Amino acid sequence: MIDVISYLPARRKPSASGWVRFNAPCCEHNGETRDRRSRGGIKTSEAGWSFHCFNCGYTASFIIGRNLSFKARKLLSWLGVPAEEIERINLESLRHRSMEGLLTDRQRLSNTLQGIEFEERELPPGAELVTTKHSTHWQYLRVRGVPEDYPVMTVLENDTVHWTRPQVIVPFTYDNRVVGYSCRMLDNRQPKYIHDTQPGYVFGTDLQSPNWRYAIVVEGVFDALSIGGLAVLHAEINDAQVRLIRSLDREIIVVPDQDAAGMKLVDRAMELGWAVSMPDWPAEVKDVNDAVIRWGQAATLITILQASETSKIKIELRKKKLAKKS
Ligand SMILES: [Zn+2]
Repeated sequence: MIDVISYLPARRKPSASGWVRFNAPCCEHNGETRDRRSRGGIKTSEAGWSFHCFNCGYTASFIIGRNLSFKARKLLSWLGVPAEEIERINLESLRHRSMEGLLTDRQRLSNTLQGIEFEERELPPGAELVTTKHSTHWQYLRVRGVPEDYPVMTVLENDTVHWTRPQVIVPFTYDNRVVGYSCRMLDNRQPKYIHDTQPGYVFGTDLQSPNWRYAIVVEGVFDALSIGGLAVLHAEINDAQVRLIRSLDREIIVVPDQDAAGMKLVDRAMELGWAVSMPDWPAEVKDVNDAVIRWGQAATLITILQASETSKIKIELRKKKLAKKS
């Protein structure tokens, strides 16, 4: 068995939630001052472990049966684990190659065959993890229903003009690698959003749980974050995005913004034979995020599932009704 806890510094404390806290070894390698306040945390399970640093934002995880990732290797080396020991852990892991590992490998292979690949991208220089110490940013994310464990970043100081505006940066990931980001400005000036994205990208694949039956497809990043959905990032779904969404092998429910642009998304969903849900929300609730802010995630999900519709006639009727309302 691979016991990661044995590599941690002697001064460590377990918490009730299952995290073991210790002085993070990552910060000084990431341009931050050395952690002396036990801001590194590791959580282990039968399947592996995951590490999170609340000082510099470094994360790494490991799943038994898979290769050690680049970030997990770096973390182990910062913890003082010798290179040959890291190789031994990797081999040991591969001997435990589980069904899940094999399935993920197959998913990766089929993604490659279908041409679903995104290059790794950098977050803006100086991006740091938003924590409670960034009270405005933290508050904004809580109000918008972003789960506390999703790593949202911010740049406090940087010489480029637009980074001097207050903002939150949502990393775009695919297969848990950063492949872009969406930056939401928190002042009232334009532009409100800056994206760094790649053609065919769909946000939120890493939010999907393997045992979920449905995938909720929405327009915006915050809609997706607040409901655990997939965001196509505009009111259309291009062919590459369709391939990626289909590769997840779920029942798809498209939930458009309840405005004219959203109706374009509805037409596209019907063309693809996907279910559409347009719950009977009051006029001021325009999208999934508004609904989650008002009623919470579980209640919103229920109204979405209840209003889910595959009949083209019923979808057209619902569209007409919505058009009258607005
Ligand atoms: Zn750190």
